[in-house]
Parts: sequence; C-alpha cells; structure tokens
Amino acid sequence: MNISELVSRQKEAFRTGINRTYEKRKAHLQVFRSMISKHEKQLCEAINHDFGKPAFESYSTEIYVLLHEIDVQLKNLSKWMAPESVGGPVVTFPSKYVIHKQPLGTVLIISAWNYPVHLSLMPLAGSLAAGNTAVLKPSGLAPATSGLISKLIEQKFEPEVLTVVEGGIPETTELLQQPFDKIFFTGSTRVGKIVMKAAAEQLIPVTLELGGKSPAIVHKDANILVSAKRIMWGKTINAGQTCVAPDFAAVHQSQKKRFTEMAQKTLSGFFRDDYRPGINYTRIVNREHFNRLKKLMDGGRVLSGGSTNAESLFIEPTLMDAEWDDVIMQEEIFGPLLPVVSYNDENELIERLQFRPSPLALYLFTDDQHFQNKIFDNVPFGGGCVNDTITHLGNPNLPFGGVGESGMGTYHGKASFDTFSRPQSVLKKSFWPDPDIRYPPYNEKKLTWFKRLFS
Ligand code: NAD
Repeated sequence: MNISELVSRQKEAFRTGINRTYEKRKAHLQVFRSMISKHEKQLCEAINHDFGKPAFESYSTEIYVLLHEIDVQLKNLSKWMAPESVGGPVVTFPSKYVIHKQPLGTVLIISAWNYPVHLSLMPLAGSLAAGNTAVLKPSGLAPATSGLISKLIEQKFEPEVLTVVEGGIPETTELLQQPFDKIFFTGSTRVGKIVMKAAAEQLIPVTLELGGKSPAIVHKDANILVSAKRIMWGKTINAGQTCVAPDFAAVHQSQKKRFTEMAQKTLSGFFRDDYRPGINYTRIVNREHFNRLKKLMDGGRVLSGGSTNAESLFIEPTLMDAEWDDVIMQEEIFGPLLPVVSYNDENELIERLQFRPSPLALYLFTDDQHFQNKIFDNVPFGGGCVNDTITHLGNPNLPFGGVGESGMGTYHGKASFDTFSRPQSVLKKSFWPDPDIRYPPYNEKKLTWFKRLFS
C-alpha cells in the first residue's frame, strides 16, 4: 500500500467508526499496553543497539513512563469521553449546553530519535484514547527501535487503525502532503517550521514538541551539592541528548567555584571512569552530532572531562567555563557538555533569559519563594522543576510542551486526550417558549427591552 492509499483507508475507517466507541478505544489501549509490556526487553535492547543506552535508563525513562501513561488513559477514559454540561448566560435562557469530545480523525505522529519508544508511543496512547486512527513516522536515526515498533504494531493492529511508516526526509515529506486531520511533531525547531509550513497549506492543526536551551539556575541560597547532583544527572542521562536536559547552568557568582567543584565530584561518583555503553552511559547518536559537539568543546574552555573517542562515538561528561555570549551559549547543545555561566543580580539574570528564545524547560535551585515567583512571572518557559531536573515529565497531571521556539500545544495524561480531541459545543433548546423579541422586524421598543433584560 502506498502512503496516499494508506491514509485514504484510515480516513475511510475513521468515517465508519473503527475506533469511536468507548469499548473499541479501551480494547485498542489494552492491546497496545500488552504489546509494550510483553516486549519491554526487546525494546530496551533495540534502543541499546541504536545508541548504547543503558537498560536502566531505557526502562525508567521510556517503558515505565509509557505504561503509566496508558494506565492513566485507560483509568480516565470514560470520564474524559463523557459529554460535559456547562452553564450559560441569561440571553440564551432557557437552554442546555453540552461539550462533546470528538476525535479529530486521522492523525500523523512524527517523532525524534532520542527517546525512540517514549516519543513515538506516548502520543499514540493519547491518540488511541481520543478515538483517532493514526500513522506513526518514527525517526530513521534509531533504526533498530523504529523497525521493532513497526513490526509489533503491524502484528497487533489493523493498518486502518494504526500503522507505521519508517524512513527519513523523503517519507516524511510525502506524509506531510496527505490530508491528515492533525499533525503531532516531536523534533528540532528547524524541522518544526517545515512541518508547520506544510500543515498550513491544508490548514491542518499542529502540536509541535521542539527543543531549546533549558537553563538550570543555581541561586546563592541553594544546597550546592544536591543541585550539582541533580543537574549532572539531568545532563548525563542519555548523554545529554534529552530535549529537557539542563542545557547550561547559570550559577550565582558567589557559588560558581563551589558548584563546579561539586559537579566534578558528582561525575566521579556517578561513573568512576566506567563509561561502558549499554551499562552506564549512552553514546552520541552519529558522527555528525559527535563532530558538532567536539567542535563546541574544542572552541570553549574545558574545566573537567573532555575525553572523546570518535570510533565509539563517546564523549565524556564535560564541564565548561563560559560567558553568556560564547558560541556554546547560542544553540541547543543536545550532548553531555555543561557550560557554566554566572550572574550577580536577579534582574540581570531575568533580563538575559528574557532576550533568549523561550526554552522547553527551566530548573530553579533555590528555596527563596520570592525569587521563584519572580522567575515564573517574568521568564516564559514550557515547564520545569524547583530543586530538580527533568522529573516533571514523570507526572501525567502536568501538561508537557513548549512555548515560542520550544513549541506549541501540550500532551501527557488529560492534556494528551484533549490534544487529540476537539470540543464540539452544542446548545440544546426546546420548541417552547419562543419569544418574539429576537426576530425582525426590529424597533426601538425591542432594543430597550433587550438592554433592560440582558445588560
Ligand atoms: P529532527 O527535527 O531532525 O527530526 C525529527 C523528525 O523529523 C524525524 O522523524 C525525522 O525523520 C524528520 N525530519 C528530519 N528532517 C526533516 C525534513 N527536512 N523534512 C521532514 N522531516 C524531517 O530532530 P531529532 O534529531 O530527531 O531530535 C532532536 C531534536 O528534537 C532536538 O532539538 C530536541 O530538543 C528535540 N526534541 C524535543 C522533544 C520534546 O518533547 N519537546 C523531545 C525529543 C527531542
């Protein structure tokens, strides 16, 4: 089946209600869940094969989070699907008002390589729950995982409900020409713009889950050892190839020296010079990204770390001293390099952050409530943590997504169900009463009455 036929068949299947009822959605989610839990080991092995990710990381950040998300969708499905009654104003009295949660139709999900199970299947869970049919296009940069996901979905689902198109730019370009009812894209800001342009041609709504430079701010009152541990953990899982990794640390000048000492100490404690792929530490995905990161490292001031091996695509977690205008502070790093910049004054920090593209995440290490609120109220960012990194993703009650250059729209939990549904708002009236005031011919008397009754 070619791509255009595939999409037509899914659209036809949607029209005939293939995934519309509660029973069908529930059954599909249950099959989806058991497909993942039965093959969790193979999925972790495929990710390890693609870029040497340790099984602990694959299980905890991909499989576990995904299974939990499906459970949340299953548990809440009937409640979220139920029509919602709302109140109304005097002007439309007497009426009832109801919001039906309708599926969107046939959706396209395009995902990134760096969490290849999580980023492909988390949105699919929301899409299935919302009653859509879907085409998934995983990243070609994690081919073993993409191949396995494709095989499993083919075994478990009719292609009219759910199917996978593997590949890279040519396949995605063709998919983007199809009349989907929604596109959910995870990837870089650069490709996000290509997707949005293509979607605009057919007025297809998009959710864009993009990247950015997420700061970790360490204030003067912070517990420096704990801050260093939590920031280095966030920076080193998946070798920093995480959309919400702390990209750089902005540390209060009075704590910078101690922070870099504690960060070095933390790294020695984490790895003890044992960077075996698949056991402790992930590899860089390919030579192109390896070269990009090496260049950033070579062009900056390394404080600790800095070893590399081009053959095995290894880059050691590396701390770097930096100024706000350095090259490494311009683009998303997406690798295990942590530049540390400093600030003296809260307002100076806020101004610097305000003039940068809005990041996907922001991490704030302080117990100072006043400072926390000042940052929240003045710096736009997608989501984040106080005194931690990354773990906000683990709570499906927190909608996840970016702002500005880091994306638009949210998902996870209820936000996923809403992202893949549309509200259909209906006013219901009986035939009686039917007052004459709203109908022509109009006159001064009617206008006076209207103002008296409804103003
Ligand atoms: P990418 O933008 O290169 O690729 C994403 C998807 O787009 C892939 O499926 C790829 O095949 C496709 N693609 C690539 N070039 C294309 C083109 N020219 N035309 C059409 N399709 C194209 O991103 P990536 O390298 O896979 O992932 C890294 C980026 O994704 C980082 O910026 C990271 O921050 C971001 N990201 C964001 C999230 C999030 O949830 N917000 C999660 C993971 C990664």
